[in-house]
Amino acid sequence: MTEGIIVFNMTPNVLRNFFSKSATRLYPKETRETFGNVRGELYNKIEACIFCRTCARKCPSQCITVDTKEATWQCDPFVCVYCGVCVENCPKKCLYQKNEYRKPAIEKEVIFMKGEIKKEKTEEDQQEK
Ligand code: SF4
Ligand code: SF4
Repeated sequence: MTEGIIVFNMTPNVLRNFFSKSATRLYPKETRETFGNVRGELYNKIEACIFCRTCARKCPSQCITVDTKEATWQCDPFVCVYCGVCVENCPKKCLYQKNEYRKPAIEKEVIFMKGEIKKEKTEEDQQEK
C-alpha cells in the first residue's frame, strides 16, 4: 500500500524529467563556457623562459621539472592542481593559464618544451651561487 503511494507521488516527477531538457551535458562533446579568471590549462611561452627553476621550486605538487643545462621545461598535467603559484612567481611572466580546462585524455602524457639557454638569471638564482 505504502509502495503504491510512493509510486503515485513520484509519477509527476518522472513524467516531468522525461519530457524536460537534460540537466547534464554530454561532456566532453558538449562543454559549457568557462568563467572569467578560470585557472585552466597551463602553458609556457618557452621562447621567453630563462630556465631559472622558480616555478619548479614553488610548485606545491612538484610536477614541474626544469633542466637548466638542456633548456627543457616539463610539467605533468595529471599531478598539477592548477593552483597558479608557478604563474604568479614566474619572473618572465612566460607561464600562464588558459581560460579553458585541459581536454580529457585516454593516455598519460607530460607537457615537454625545449627552448634556448639565455644569459639572464633571477635574483634568487644569483643568491644561490
Ligand atoms: S619560472 Fe618562468 S622563467 Fe623560470 S623556469 Fe619557470 S617558466 Fe621559465
Ligand atoms: S599550477 Fe600549481 S600545481 Fe600546477 S604546475 Fe603550477 S604551481 Fe604546480
